[in-house]
Amino acid sequence: MNVGELAAGVLAGDRRALARAITRVESARADHRREAQALLAEVARAGRQALRIGLSGTPGVGKSTFIEAFGMMLIAAGLRVAVLAVDPSSARTGGSILGDKTRMEFLSREPMAFIRPSPSQTHLGGVARRTREAVALCEGAGFDIVLIETVGVGQSETVVAEMADLFVLLLAPAGGDELQGVKRGIMEMADLILVNKADGDLKRAAMRTMADYAGALRLLRKRPQDPPGFPKALCVSAVTQDGLAGAWAEMQALVTWRRETGHFAGRRAEQARHWFGEEVRQGLLARLDTPDARAQMADLGRAVAEGRIDPGVAAARILDGLPG
Ligand code: GDP
Repeated sequence: MNVGELAAGVLAGDRRALARAITRVESARADHRREAQALLAEVARAGRQALRIGLSGTPGVGKSTFIEAFGMMLIAAGLRVAVLAVDPSSARTGGSILGDKTRMEFLSREPMAFIRPSPSQTHLGGVARRTREAVALCEGAGFDIVLIETVGVGQSETVVAEMADLFVLLLAPAGGDELQGVKRGIMEMADLILVNKADGDLKRAAMRTMADYAGALRLLRKRPQDPPGFPKALCVSAVTQDGLAGAWAEMQALVTWRRETGHFAGRRAEQARHWFGEEVRQGLLARLDTPDARAQMADLGRAVAEGRIDPGVAAARILDGLPG
């Protein structure tokens, strides 16, 4: 299938074409890269937009159970749902952990859904670009909601928050009074904290955890992109589905407010600017990743270590010699 046919398939909402298109943007081959860029340009012309929801949580909090239940609820409301995964850790395990179809049994059989497991990965910079481009392709394919799932480890949350319109943090009920070691930076990114497993014996602990986080959120610096009451902490149960409709209502309320106040478009504009800068930085780094440049780096590194040349002068020598 050539680029034109692939783009037409994506724009027609054909899931097989979409899967192939994503495989194309995931390829590191230079000719594929060029095709991917042409494909993205073609698809972008349709100007379609989905609501991009980032979802993060540590393994075991119930991400796949939540996405299955939440996704089915959205589909019942007539929305088309795509699920993408960002999982830099799968490079270590060699397999895909997130977005696995077997984890979302019902959703994966839905014609209104598209689930893309995370590819086994190299480095975060690559993951970010590939996921961003996959999001763009899903938007072109007419999905209303793109859920971007990530495990709550490392820097992947930041990457996801930087490409999502809404960032949702999923937590499990805590036993004690600790704030579960959730880093402040992650709390600051969250628009909604959902304490999952608020059912049965865990319900009381979930309520307590929710109250703790609601308190912690109130102490955070006020962000201009939030209406009163946000960011918010809520209890949900992915298993009983209690609270899911409420969580969706809160997300919609937040999005509506941000659209009306210009913050929605403003955030997207900021994100586009951020990714542009990242692409330039990644591109520059890639130019240093040639045998010649590596050898020169090693030589000059030694010279710097031995005090034969000043670090700044050595760096300038490398940078000035980079191919244009
Ligand atoms: P993930 O690793 O974050 O994707 O978590 P999973 O969705 O695989 O869930 C981990 C475990 O938590 C499974 O045994 C689920 O059945 C359980 N679980 C998920 N959601 C809920 C919930 O709402 N209530 C209860 N009680 N258990 C849940």
